[in-house]
Amino acid sequence: MSIVTLDSRFARDLAEMAVPWKAEDVAEPRLLALDDDLAVELGLDPAWLRGPDGVRLLVGGNVPEGAAPVAQAYAGHQFGGFVPRLGDGRALLLGELVDTEQRVRDLHLKGSGRTPFARGGDGLAAVGPMLREYVVSRAMHALHIPTTRALAVVATGRQVRRERLLPGAVLARVASSHLRVGSFQYATVTGDEGLLRRLADHAIARHHPAAAGAERPYLALFEAVVAAQARLIAQWMLAGFVHGVMNTDNMTISGETIDYGPCAFMDAYDPATVYSSIDHGGRYAYGNQPLVAEWNLARLAETLLPLIDDDQDRAVELATAALQSFRRRYDEAWSDGMRTKLGLRDHHPALVEELLTLQQTGRADHTSTYRALATAARGDDAPIRELLPGPLGSAWVARWLALEPDADAMDRVNPLYIPRNHLVEEALSAAVEGDLAPLTRLVDAVSDPYTVRPGLESFTTAAPEEFGGYQTFC
Ligand code: AMP
Ligand code: MG
Ligand code: MG
Repeated sequence: MSIVTLDSRFARDLAEMAVPWKAEDVAEPRLLALDDDLAVELGLDPAWLRGPDGVRLLVGGNVPEGAAPVAQAYAGHQFGGFVPRLGDGRALLLGELVDTEQRVRDLHLKGSGRTPFARGGDGLAAVGPMLREYVVSRAMHALHIPTTRALAVVATGRQVRRERLLPGAVLARVASSHLRVGSFQYATVTGDEGLLRRLADHAIARHHPAAAGAERPYLALFEAVVAAQARLIAQWMLAGFVHGVMNTDNMTISGETIDYGPCAFMDAYDPATVYSSIDHGGRYAYGNQPLVAEWNLARLAETLLPLIDDDQDRAVELATAALQSFRRRYDEAWSDGMRTKLGLRDHHPALVEELLTLQQTGRADHTSTYRALATAARGDDAPIRELLPGPLGSAWVARWLALEPDADAMDRVNPLYIPRNHLVEEALSAAVEGDLAPLTRLVDAVSDPYTVRPGLESFTTAAPEEFGGYQTFC
């Protein structure tokens, strides 16, 4: 017997943004995936979670005593257009729990039925996309990239109508919170400055407590979010991660990656890479991500202006200066990351730029390139010659080798195993047909991305030619 204690601090502090709600009944829940390590971290017994009461908790059917599940309200700019009322259309915050390290974490469900924010949607989620979030967020965590975590995916036995009928599922997600830029936009739209202040205080207490002691706490909150997002986006860029739908409702205040709808890891290096079927203009292309993040942060700054200073001109001045620190912070995090990826002691910005140009013109696989470079540093340049062919490639490698890169240090930061698109598709198709073995193998591989293991050679190569162009769907 495991006792789960959930607090409902968000619902209490910010009742105007929390609609009490309950999950739709699930007659035949069947556990498809569970992150045992995360369960233990949360103080939950994995064996109990696998049992009938545990599985019912993971679909919202078993609400712990004292818990008060809510659908959270938020607004958001979707592809640049403002929508004043979005909110959890198919999700619920079950409540907050305190993990074994005394951190407060949200326990949240996705695919748990229609809520008052569902608009035209059915409130449901399909097995494939929920397992996709499970695999990719596990990979992100193993890559040390801040992220919401997937605790479990449970099949509901219900059919979900998309282009065709698909098996339904509920994802149980854990986050340091679900506060978004869009949460602040929602509070602003209500016109209730007291609510906005309570939201900001809640965010400070939960994520950036040092801001509370600052001369201007709300400016300090903004600066802390800018810093967290600059670090996060740099890590996405270094790893070749394309989020795909960086709407302001999908950008957290904590600096964790959220919403794994149309995301994908880039194969061939190209800043113009777009996978999402609905991103026609390439707004959320790989190379645009830092700019979009800065744009989203400007939207957050606008919401905080009334709290920053009574004199709005002064508030704009202060917020603008804080926003300008995004580029510096991003460049620092990214340059430092590239230096580390290349095993160098010092910064060599021109050399780094030349490598990226070579990667782009040769359409070199991004992930393989850095492992092949480490192999070259150990004396075998065959793999890198294939990725960066010709005299320009060889000349670049020779100049880099002269800087005496540290191959072991490189292998500690450059992954071998990422959720490559063709592997994800293969694993999800099999899982939807009832075969979980490929998914389990992929999760095992990406959960320990840096260590060479026998039998996983096929996980390290780019998609075969016949896989073709890749498209993802929200
Ligand atoms: P997303 O693109 O996943 O960030 O979702 C944007 C908005 O659409 C959020 O308000 C979601 O809750 C809502 N939404 C997405 N899919 C559904 C669905 N199947 N049913 C109800 N609401 C949905
Ligand atoms: Mg979303
Ligand atoms: Mg989504």
